Amino acid sequence: MAKANAAPPGPRRRSRAFPFVHRFFRLVGATATKTFRRRRRLTARSTRNRRVARPGEPNRPEEAEQPPEQAVGPARDPDAADADTTVVAGKYWAHRHSLFSLYDRGVRMDPEGWYSATPESVAALQAARAAPGDLVVDAFAGCGGNSIQFAARGCYVVAVEIDPRKVELAAHNARVYGVEDRIEFVVGDFFRLAPSLKADLVFLSPPWGGPSYIQAPVYTLDMLKPKDGYATFQAAQKIAPNVIMFLPRTVDMSQVEELSWLSCPPLDFEIEESYVHHRLKGITAYFGRTARPPSDH
Ligand code: ADP
Repeated sequence: MAKANAAPPGPRRRSRAFPFVHRFFRLVGATATKTFRRRRRLTARSTRNRRVARPGEPNRPEEAEQPPEQAVGPARDPDAADADTTVVAGKYWAHRHSLFSLYDRGVRMDPEGWYSATPESVAALQAARAAPGDLVVDAFAGCGGNSIQFAARGCYVVAVEIDPRKVELAAHNARVYGVEDRIEFVVGDFFRLAPSLKADLVFLSPPWGGPSYIQAPVYTLDMLKPKDGYATFQAAQKIAPNVIMFLPRTVDMSQVEELSWLSCPPLDFEIEESYVHHRLKGITAYFGRTARPPSDH
């Protein structure tokens, strides 16, 4: 297993689901606690061996090289029966353990999951900004990679996903990781649900627009789907002042920084370049208390 993918499996099952349910309903409808800190300058933190990818260079899993002929789709994955899944899985097969280190224990993904899941090592770093016990809303949960890492961190997660089929896959994957008792899956439109939710932290990895997102030299926040980055961020702000947003590596940084100014006083803000195996996979923006003090960068 690659070192960068060695995120620990989730914690043991909780003996009772009640504390989570209780906490969830307590926080729904409650008033968010706003914590403000002195706003920081735009900062970028990179991992060792920082290197900015050249235009067109492989970045997200969708741009990866073709695997060897024999490395076709995941034969024991029930979803491989779907031709699309087999094709996509074949293309991204080499990255399966980057996406889910426990892939071989039966993780399931649909075609979009193969190219849009957050690599596990990146998801683990993002989750590390939450405090154990936090209630986290994962707004576009997909196949569950981020929700699983927040749950493994000891958070309670409300995983919102509009596609019921993906929710099934995510719930299955949460069981593979042994964290299903910490995640409440909700099938629904995040933008409809947001006004009725309260939490400690919101994680946003909204649709980037499919693999073609990389064709634009600069990714602007209006390219996010189904609503632009400002509307998405504001919806999240109604839930919690602490937001983590995973964005394309070509995103317009000044626009991302502007998001912190949507609150008064402005939110603390930090930008992190997210690498896997020295490849820049995306930009993670941290707002509120998820941003670290500049001295820690
Ligand atoms: P990308 O364009 O980065 O590949 P996806 O198209 O896979 O992203 O979208 C990420 C996830 O967000 C998908 O699982 C999709 O079903 C989900 N999603 C899209 N719109 C909404 C919404 N309004 N509410 C909740 N989930 C949504």
